[in-house]
Amino acid sequence: MPETKAATVLEVKRLEATLAEVRETTKNGLLASIQGHIDELRDIGFEYELKAVEGQKTPKNGHSTKCSQCGGTGHTKRTCPQKGGNNGLVQQAKA
Ligand SMILES: [Zn+2]
Repeated sequence: MPETKAATVLEVKRLEATLAEVRETTKNGLLASIQGHIDELRDIGFEYELKAVEGQKTPKNGHSTKCSQCGGTGHTKRTCPQKGGNNGLVQQAKA
């Protein structure tokens, strides 16, 4: 019966919408909780930032860091091998 089928499809869509709503509500609740802890950390001198990651169900393999200095992956600007001399990790002793 087409009508029953259509009703089932509607029910599925309704459930999917409900699921999405519940997931969103749960996520927002968790984020608010986490943000609260981050604020507490900040109060005692630690600075953290919460940010979403694209593709939440498929974590990237290997290094996900991208260098803003040379555009390479696997290291950051701070540890870039192509980095210029200024503000680097190597300290030069004064003669
Ligand atoms: Zn680099």
